[in-house]
Amino acid sequence: MWSAETVVACALALLTRSAASLPPIELVDVPPADVSTQADAFVRVGEPRIYLVTSSDVFRRAQASKYRCGDLDAHRILASVIVHEEWHVKHGRDEVEAYNAQLMTLQLLGARPGSPAYTAVWRSARAALARRKATERAPKLVAKETDGNGVAP
Ligand SMILES: [Zn+2]
Repeated sequence: MWSAETVVACALALLTRSAASLPPIELVDVPPADVSTQADAFVRVGEPRIYLVTSSDVFRRAQASKYRCGDLDAHRILASVIVHEEWHVKHGRDEVEAYNAQLMTLQLLGARPGSPAYTAVWRSARAALARRKATERAPKLVAKETDGNGVAP
C-alpha cells in the first residue's frame, strides 16, 4: 500500500502542478462530523486549504495500486478532486463551476465523457446539484447550512 503522500504526489504529477502552486493540502483520516461522510475532500470558508480524506473509496483505491501511481483512473479522479477544491478556495461555493473545472480537468487528463472515471465524477456532480436544488426549495435550510458550518463539498 502506498503512502498518502505518494498518492498526492502522483495526482499532482498528473496535473503537472507543484504543491507550491496549489493551496496547502491537508490529509485527514475521516471527514469531520460537520462534513458529509461521503466526501472525498472539502474546504472551509475563509481557510485557503484543501482537506483530502484518505479513507475515501477513491483514495484507498489509489493507495492500493500495484505500481507507484499505477491506478490511473483513481489518480485522475483525485487530481480532479484537488482542482474542484482549488476552485472553491479561489472562487467560492458555486458547485456548478467547481464541477465544471473538475470535469474539464478529467478530460485534459484523458478521461473522456463515457469513461468510467468521467462517469463516476459526473454522477457525483449530478447528485450534488440535485441536493442543492432540494435545499434551494427550502431557503431556511440553505441559510442554516451556509452560516452554520461554512463547508463546501
Ligand atoms: Zn464542491
